[in-house]
Amino acid sequence: MVHQGKDAREGVSAVTRPEPALSVVVPMFDEESVLPLFARRLRAVLDGLGEAYEVVAVDDGSTDGTGAGLAALRAGWPQLRVLRLRRNSGHQAALVAGVLRARGRYVVSIDADLQDPPETIVEMLRLARADDLDIVYGVRADRRTDSAFKRWTAAGYYRLMRRLVGKQVPAQAGDFRLLSRAAVEALRELPERSPVLRLVVPWLGFPSGEVSYQRDERAAGRTKYPLSRMAGLAAESVTSFSAAPLRFATWLGLAGVAVCGVLVVVAVLAWLAGSTVSGWPSLYVAVLFLGAVQLLCLGLLGEYVARIYTAVQGRPAYFVAADSADSPDSPDSAD
Ligand code: UDP
Ligand code: MG
Repeated sequence: MVHQGKDAREGVSAVTRPEPALSVVVPMFDEESVLPLFARRLRAVLDGLGEAYEVVAVDDGSTDGTGAGLAALRAGWPQLRVLRLRRNSGHQAALVAGVLRARGRYVVSIDADLQDPPETIVEMLRLARADDLDIVYGVRADRRTDSAFKRWTAAGYYRLMRRLVGKQVPAQAGDFRLLSRAAVEALRELPERSPVLRLVVPWLGFPSGEVSYQRDERAAGRTKYPLSRMAGLAAESVTSFSAAPLRFATWLGLAGVAVCGVLVVVAVLAWLAGSTVSGWPSLYVAVLFLGAVQLLCLGLLGEYVARIYTAVQGRPAYFVAADSADSPDSPDSAD
């Protein structure tokens, strides 16, 4: 689904240019109305840090004035970098593109609509450094500003994801988070074209922490996440971490065979008792048998497709955090 340029995963720029302390990645799709406001608030926070930083604005194929607005901002803001995607590729893809190209020692991703307060970045950075963490999640203190429907669907989504991926998936954490350079490099190793970041990041297994924040109302413009996209994200999340839906046919087939067995016995008994229309038992048994066999075969196919699917994903089964053979004196100084 996501087609990245050939060099997207090779980190060409990551090694040739000096590394700022912090990169802030902002996916933007048709955000011209909020852009000036966002830029002013973000810049105030980042300039106040007193450290080298870069802002990677990912223009996700905007068709309004976002591109022009970014170009104008760049004239007076040398730390602003603009990554333009050729067409609208979706929030996740834009995020991945920005994060993989960011050069900072730490990389924070944030939405452009000021729902995630830029001031929280300072806190994330402080926590990551103080506790030597590789991942800091922004966790929504409450979702008062979201509709009851969004809250309800989100709760269901996180419950399902924690079952599929594991307990390390924080509930109520969206895509406002900090990653260390090591975490970004681990992401780069994934062969997948479009990982669902909010699931893959916890799955990487780095030490992580949380910073809670108040999720504000969108400052301007409209949401780009209608129901259809939310459903799409949920479907992608499930299928990228589980072959369970494929296995469903096997279970259905087995259940079908069991039910068929019982009904065949009933049909034969009815036939022996002579209480049926002639021809009914043979027809009935044949239909049941065929149905069950078909479901079972579909299930078998599903099992093989599931295996092919996990093989094609090619995710590493583990990541080595440290090897004492690499640095005998200090086994944990991986970088
Ligand atoms: N976004 C994007 N590409 C898209 C849709 C959204 O880059 O196709 C960006 C959008 O500009 C914003 C962020 O993703 O910075 C989150 O989107 P939005 O605020 O519309 O989602 P919501 O907060 O309503 O879930
Ligand atoms: Mg938003």
